[in-house]
Formats: sequence, structure tokens, C-alpha cells
Amino acid sequence: MPIETPSHPTPFSQRPIIILGAGIIGCATARQLLQHGFSRSFSPGDQDISYASAWAGAAWHAAGGITPDQRYLQVITHRILLQMSRDPNSGVNIVDAREFLEKEPAPDSALWGRTVVSKFREMDPSEYPAEFHCAWAYQTLVTDPTRHMPYLRQQVEALGGQFLRRRVDSLQQLYEMFPDSRIFINASGLGSQKLADVLDDRCFPERGQNVFLRTDQCHTMYFRNGQEYTYVIPRPQSGGVILGGVKQQDNLSSEVDLNIAQDEITRAHRLAPHVVPKYPADETISHIIGIRPSRRGGYRLDSVQSGQRTILSAYGFGGGGYAFSYGVADALVKMVEESERKNVIV
Ligand SMILES: Cc1cc2nc3c(=O)[nH]c(=O)nc-3n(C[C@H](O)[C@H](O)[C@H](O)COP(=O)(O)OP(=O)(O)OC[C@H]3O[C@@H](n4cnc5c(N)ncnc54)[C@H](O)[C@@H]3O)c2cc1C
Repeated sequence: MPIETPSHPTPFSQRPIIILGAGIIGCATARQLLQHGFSRSFSPGDQDISYASAWAGAAWHAAGGITPDQRYLQVITHRILLQMSRDPNSGVNIVDAREFLEKEPAPDSALWGRTVVSKFREMDPSEYPAEFHCAWAYQTLVTDPTRHMPYLRQQVEALGGQFLRRRVDSLQQLYEMFPDSRIFINASGLGSQKLADVLDDRCFPERGQNVFLRTDQCHTMYFRNGQEYTYVIPRPQSGGVILGGVKQQDNLSSEVDLNIAQDEITRAHRLAPHVVPKYPADETISHIIGIRPSRRGGYRLDSVQSGQRTILSAYGFGGGGYAFSYGVADALVKMVEESERKNVIV
């Protein structure tokens, strides 16, 4: 029987996969795809406060209120970050964590994370203030974006990926820029609110403003779990801690709000008085502002076939993009393989 020759000269698996967005989601996906042997990825992007990945905390913390499948994405992320933590250039560090709960944990609380993190234990009441219902001690992972994003970029480029800095108004514009490509990944974060052929009205900006405090007490994370949203996230390689937090819906201001900063210092001081002074010297603090790419109803992670193209969407990770990153990348690799399977098994 004669074998039919495909009309396109470039085999499916060798056509560039195009990723829109060079945040943690787009870059982690590019790395994982390239490691699986897929062809070069291009990740257009730029940098301002709405480029969330540059400004994150960024701690691995088990999310509450999520499904088992979503938890597993966090588990995969933890596994990959743990492996990366062996490389000092990755900006990923293992740190101790102390999590204080205002109330008894709900059945779908972050407690599931005890099966993932190391050295988990319930703390004795003598170890934490009486105002808390209970507290957990464990080891977790923190990622310093100022080191991790350049590291990831270098890894993607070393594996043959390419970055292209360009703003697009629609996915259609990308299809026209890359007519040979069949797989497009939309990892544009908040960009999906404005892309003409996405216009996802569930997306919304959630402003964060953190204080960076220079200190050598930077090896333990403190986290207040409850109504008062407070964290002290260590950055051992940058010699300091991140104090937060605040979530301001639909606020896009790039101006530092000193009242917020003072409130965060006060709350962090209450949580970890031996790390955060009540009145830190001005020269020991600086401010970080970033916009979380949030989405009502949770993030979007799916694959849609449109003619010959497969369009994968991965955006809306709000305050958890780092904790989900490599799990999402892994899920996208599987979706790409599924698309490959449909296209090459003829
Ligand atoms: C203050 C703060 C603290 C945080 N702390 C944590 C934490 O402790 N743990 C955690 O897991 N997460 C944390 N996060 C959340 C985390 O930063 C985000 O969830 C994550 O960075 C989202 O990544 P992303 O790749 O989806 O989006 P982004 O990083 O926003 O990247 C989107 C990319 O798309 C590009 N893009 C968008 N539109 C277009 C367009 N039209 N054309 C071309 N390019 C476009 C952008 O330029 C950018 O490259 C924090 C965030 C903030 C702000």
C-alpha cells in the first residue's frame, strides 16, 4: 500500500511551539517542553508591575479549598523545586516554616500539604501565642524571583528556546507571526483580560505591596493563616525577608502606599518579633509592588482545538503562580503530547 507523504515539510513535533508570556508559567512550560524534546519555544513578554512573576514572595504553600487534581499540580511543583534547590543558581531554597492558624482547620484546609513538605509536626501550645488555635512547623521551599527568572531564562536558551519581546493585541496576531506553528500556549497572565480574541472578563488585577527588610535572620518563613493575611518570607540568598501582605482588587497603582507598608511591618513584627523590629531603620527597607493575575472561579488550564491549531490556556493563577508553576508546565506538556498524538498517528 503506498504511504501518504504529509504535505508540510516540517514534521509536527519539530514545529515551534509558541508561548505567549514569559512569566513563571510561560518560562517553566518552555523549559519542560524543551526537556521533552519539543522544538524551540518563543515567549514574548515585557516587564512592569503587571508582570507578576518579577514581584512574588514567592513561597510554596499548600493552597486550601482546591481539588485533588489541583493539589497534585502543587505536588509536582514541589518535587521539581526541591530538585532545583540543590543548584544555588536556581534561587530556590529550603527554609523552615511556622504557620499559625487563627481557627481550627477546615476539612479542605492547607493541612493536606503535610504529606508533601518535610519535617511536618503540630507545634506544642507552649511554642506559639495563645491567640492561635494551633500551629504547624515544617520545611518548605521559597523561590527568589530575582534569581529564578534569570536562571530559567538561561536554561530555556541553553535548551534552544528563544525569547522575542513584542506586545500583541490578539492570539490571531501570533498565528500570523508563526504560520507554521500548530500549538500556541496562552500564558499571558492578566493579559488575557485584554487580548481581543480572549477578553476573559473573569480576570482581574489584585495589587500586592510588600516590604523587603534586610536582615540576616532570613531562614524561617512565618505565615498567619486566617482573616489577617500576614507573612514573613525569607530570601536567604538576598539577605532579607519579604513582609506582607495585602490584596487590593482592581487597584493598578505603582505608587508605594506608606500606610500599607507600616501596617505590614506592624503585623509582621507581631508574628515574628525576633526577626522584624517594630521600627526598622529606613536604610534596611525597600518596597515591592506587583499585580497578581487573579481570576474569578480560579485559574484556566485547558486545551481547545481550533481548525488545525491547538490552543492551550494557562492563566489566572492569582497569588499562587509559583506554587503551581511546574505542575502546570507538566500538565501542558501532557496536553502538547496529546495534540502530537492526534496529529502524527495517521
Ligand atoms: C506581591 C506578590 C506576592 C506573591 N507571592 C506569591 C507566593 O508567595 N507564592 C506564589 O506561588 N505566588 C505568589 N505570587 C503570585 C505569582 O507572582 C503569580 O501567580 C505568577 O507570577 C503568575 O505568573 P504568570 O506567568 O501567569 O503571569 P505573569 O508573571 O504576569 O506573566 C505574564 C506574561 O505575559 C506577558 N503578556 C501579557 N499580555 C501580553 C501581550 N498582550 N503581549 C505580549 N506579552 C504579554 C507579560 O509581559 C508577561 O511576560 C505573588 C504575587 C505578588 C504580586
